[in-house]
Amino acid sequence: MNHDKAAVPEQLQKAGGLVPGAARTVSLQTLTPEAEVYGVGSFFHLLANPNTKIRVCTGLSCKLAGAQKLLAKMEKVGMPVEGCSCLAACDQPPAALREREVLPAVTLGDVDAAGGDWRQVKPHISRDGDRWLGHIGPTKSDSETLAINLPGKPDYTGGALAQAEAMGVDAVIQAVKTSGLQGRGGAGFPAHIKWSGVCNQSEQQRYVVLNADEGEPGTFKDREIIMRRPDLVIEGLAIAARTIDADEIYLYLRGEFAIPKQVLREAIDKLRSVGHLDGLAFHFHDGQGAYICGEETALLEALEGKRGMPRLKPPFPVEKGLWGKPTLIHNVETIACLPAIIRKGGDWFRALGKTEAGSKLYCISGHVARPGTYELPLGVSLDELVEAAGGYVGTLKAFSPGGASSGFLPASMRELPLDFKGLAEAGSMLGSAGVVILNDTVDMRWAVAQQLLFFEEESCGQCAPCRIGTRYLKEALDAAVDGDAMPGKPDLQFTEDVAWQMAEGSICGLGQIAALPLTSAQKYFPEDFR
Ligand code: SF4
Repeated sequence: MNHDKAAVPEQLQKAGGLVPGAARTVSLQTLTPEAEVYGVGSFFHLLANPNTKIRVCTGLSCKLAGAQKLLAKMEKVGMPVEGCSCLAACDQPPAALREREVLPAVTLGDVDAAGGDWRQVKPHISRDGDRWLGHIGPTKSDSETLAINLPGKPDYTGGALAQAEAMGVDAVIQAVKTSGLQGRGGAGFPAHIKWSGVCNQSEQQRYVVLNADEGEPGTFKDREIIMRRPDLVIEGLAIAARTIDADEIYLYLRGEFAIPKQVLREAIDKLRSVGHLDGLAFHFHDGQGAYICGEETALLEALEGKRGMPRLKPPFPVEKGLWGKPTLIHNVETIACLPAIIRKGGDWFRALGKTEAGSKLYCISGHVARPGTYELPLGVSLDELVEAAGGYVGTLKAFSPGGASSGFLPASMRELPLDFKGLAEAGSMLGSAGVVILNDTVDMRWAVAQQLLFFEEESCGQCAPCRIGTRYLKEALDAAVDGDAMPGKPDLQFTEDVAWQMAEGSICGLGQIAALPLTSAQKYFPEDFR
């Protein structure tokens, strides 16, 4: 197994991206064929385009807040600029990216102040101040009803880890099972099944992997957790590693999370200094800009230094994960719930939920008074969430309950529980709970176009139905909006057929649901498509 290859993305990053000569140099450094190095460099957004431009987020929440005007203004003053996919800063739109630094809430005035130099664009608010960290809920704060408790202070005593070690493997897994914890990255898969799955393997070499590559438009909770409660993330990872008998932990963070990475490193040092992490090795890996790497097997491919293309399943990562070894991979929020589950018990955690187990970090953005991250009982309604977030701005027309992947629901469905089961039964999904609110000033064709653009750009291209279907639907919608639909060209009348082929013929969730923004909007807002 060539583990040198795992260094390909990092070495390309050090070389400044896929600049002339970089592929050859990195090929020699990592003993990896030059063509493979080039393939990796051209796959990831942050490597493919050397840092010679400022990028403006084209996610739905940033577009609602004027990203298009910002982009046009930058072009007008002569800045090299281009659009990019969601920057996990939907609570402070419109966001921009300068090299690997996310600039929150950039205004036209900020562009003027930079005097035409894209390197001088400085947002008028602090990235690491309270505004960047967002508004924290619930408004009626009671730390006893919170599993993660973002307003709380980090605790580096390692009490939950010590307690887990004293409990033993079976009791820890039983506590996770009793808690009803479902994966918080989007799939909602019962966490304890993954844990038992890894423990049942005969292989001695096992890994724990943290998925902090949040990229679903509308989602920014993992950044909040890491910045506010890094203790929970590191302690949770250590609990997981001790339980499945792993001694190596990989942390995959999106490439723009330089500050969160530093915060996690400091948390590791603090917990290690009191003797709680003996024998555990933590390895950091910078994501290089690919939404698809939020999918667990694509992330594992990227960790191994390859292009982030999802694997066929089975085998699942618990059987053959990182370098073919049993691997427990979890989202940041799932991991951060573990210390509270150990300390207070699985029954306590389960009872926090309204319709399903536990509390949940909901992200909310768009037409709402206080965009931010709110920890509430899993299963609250949209109105309850929006009440915590200060109320609607304007009259609710539509909402996207779980990011781009969840499609659009009408205001009449605002009483649905925002949970895994209820939304799935309604033909949508909770996903990573990135809720985006649209008021009645929004044309749904426009909103759908933003989501289709995102999926077209982020399809890894591995499956023909996804690669072609995402483009087909985007072109069909554009043609319908522009009034230049022609026979033989992409046409919205075939939406259902294309969506079916994408759902049936795609390897991973991206292709399977990429048509949902369009099909759901056509279903619930037919007047906008006449
Ligand atoms: Fe790649 Fe799309 Fe296939 Fe997923 S469905 S593996 S994103 S081409």
